[in-house]
Amino acid sequence: MGTYIKRKLASDSSAVKNCIISKEPAMPPWTSEFYVNNLWFETSGLHEQKPNPPLLERKSRADIAIIGGGLTGLASAYHLAKAEPSKKIIIIEAGQCGYGASGRNGGFAAIYPLNHVQGIFESYGLEAAKEYATFSAQGIEIIRSMMKNDDLNCDLEETKSLELAEIPAHMKHFVKTKRIMDKIGIETKVHDRDFVKQTLSTNLFHGALESRTSSVLDPAKLCLGLKSIVESLNVEIYESTRITSVEPGKILKIYTEFGEIDADAVVIATNGYGAKTGLFKNGVFPLTNYVIATEPLSKEQMGSLGWEERHSLADTRVNFNYYRLSSDNRIVFGGEGSSYFFGNRLSSGNEKKLISALEKRLLKIWPQLEGVKITHRWGGTLGITLDHEPAFGVMGDHKNIYYGVGYSGDGVTWAQVAGKTISRLYTKQDTDLTRFFLTNTIPPRIPPEPFRKVGHTFYRRYLEFMNRF
Ligand SMILES: Cc1cc2nc3c(=O)[nH]c(=O)nc-3n(C[C@H](O)[C@H](O)[C@H](O)COP(=O)(O)OP(=O)(O)OC[C@H]3O[C@@H](n4cnc5c(N)ncnc54)[C@H](O)[C@@H]3O)c2cc1C
Repeated sequence: MGTYIKRKLASDSSAVKNCIISKEPAMPPWTSEFYVNNLWFETSGLHEQKPNPPLLERKSRADIAIIGGGLTGLASAYHLAKAEPSKKIIIIEAGQCGYGASGRNGGFAAIYPLNHVQGIFESYGLEAAKEYATFSAQGIEIIRSMMKNDDLNCDLEETKSLELAEIPAHMKHFVKTKRIMDKIGIETKVHDRDFVKQTLSTNLFHGALESRTSSVLDPAKLCLGLKSIVESLNVEIYESTRITSVEPGKILKIYTEFGEIDADAVVIATNGYGAKTGLFKNGVFPLTNYVIATEPLSKEQMGSLGWEERHSLADTRVNFNYYRLSSDNRIVFGGEGSSYFFGNRLSSGNEKKLISALEKRLLKIWPQLEGVKITHRWGGTLGITLDHEPAFGVMGDHKNIYYGVGYSGDGVTWAQVAGKTISRLYTKQDTDLTRFFLTNTIPPRIPPEPFRKVGHTFYRRYLEFMNRF
C-alpha cells in the first residue's frame, strides 16, 4: 500500500491539538434547528419515534464512548460491538440517531465516487486510484452484507448512474474520464445528446457518462436499521444528550451538559456538526445543502419522463443537482449550491432562496412536470475537508481518540468503511483497511476566519469560472 496523499499523519504531535479543541467556548449545536419536513424521516418513521432517554448520570464509565449517532457513529458501534462483544460501548447523540446529515441526505450510496477516483489518478497515479476505488467500494459491500446477515432494510436499489453534461465542453471531460476509468477497470459509457433525450425526455443536457457507480437507498431507514442492530448487540444509545467537550488522556473525560463520562476510548463521529464543540473545527467545513421531494408521480407523469432504468442522476455544474426516484416514485432532488456560514455557524435550515431555486431547476429540466406538488423540503449539514477526502483513524498519546469525518457528499458508504476501519484499528488488526493511504491521516488545516469565509467564496467562484471550459 502506498502513502499517496500529502497530509499530516494522526501520529503527528499537533494532531490532537488541531482536531480536539476542548476549550471551545461555543455551545454544541442543536440539530433540531433544521427543517424537519424530511421525506426520509417520514418513510422510516423517525419523525414519530420517541428519542431514547438522555444520559442523566453525573458520572458514568464506558470502554468506548461514541459521540454522534449518524452513520459514522452507528457503523463504528456495529463493527466494534461485533469485534468486542464484552466491552461497554455507548453512543451519545445530541438529537436522535439519524437526525444529522445521515438521515437527511439524497440517499446515493456511492460505489466509486468517479470524480475522486479521477482526482487520485491525476495526482498520484494508477495504483493509488485502483486502491482508492477498491477501498471505497467496500462501503456498499458492508451495506449488502448487513442486509443479508442482520435483516437490515434500507430500500437499496442497485441502479446505474448518469452524469449529465450541462455544456458541450463537459463532453470532452467525459471522454477523458472514460479513458482513465478503462485503465482502472471501472466500466463507463459516453452517450450523446439523443441518448439523454430518449432516456430522460429532457432537452437540457448535451450528453452523459453512464456507470454503475452509485446505488440509491433510504438513508433514515439505514440509520434506524443500524440503530436497532447495534442495540441488539448491547450498545447503549443515549439521545437528546449533548457533549460539551472532550479532554484527552489515558482515561478520556467527556463532558455532557449534565455530567461526565470516563472512557478508555472515544470515537468522534460528529462530522459537519462537530465544529461548534471544537471537534475537527480546523479540518472540516460545515456546508448546508438542501433537498426537495415531489409527490409520488402518476403513471402518466412517469411516462412523460422516460427514466425507465431509474438511473441515479447528477449534472456537471459546480452547484450541481443530484436526483433519483424513491421507492414510491417521488423525485428526490437536491443540490443547487451549498452555504457556508461565517464562523462555522449552522444554518437555520430555512434558506428559501436555495429551496426555490431547486424547485425552478426541476421544472427547467422537465417542464412537463409543471403543477407537480413538492411535498417535502429540507436541509442538512455535511462535512467537507480542504482536499475533499475523508479522514479516519486514531490519534493521541494514548492512541485512544478514534475519528471518521469529512466524506463530502459520499458519506453514506464512506462512513461504513470508516466504522469498519475504526474497529480494525481498535482491535489492532493489520488489514488492507488499516494500511489504506487515507487511514490515520488528518484533514488539512483550514485557515481561521475571516480567511475561511473569504477563501470559500473565492474558491467557489474560481471553480465556476474553470467549469466553463
Ligand atoms: C443535504 C445532504 C445531501 C447529501 N447527500 C448525500 C448522498 O446522496 N450520498 C452520500 O453518500 N452522502 C450524502 N451526504 C453526506 C452524508 O449525509 C454525510 O457524509 C454522512 O451522513 C455523515 O455521517 P456522519 O455520521 O459522519 O455525520 P452526521 O450524520 O452529520 O452525524 C453527526 C451526528 O453527531 C451529532 N452531534 C454533533 N455534535 C454533537 C455533540 N456535541 N454531542 C452529541 N452529538 C453530537 C449530531 O446530532 C449528528 O447526529 C449529504 C449530506 C447532506 C446534508
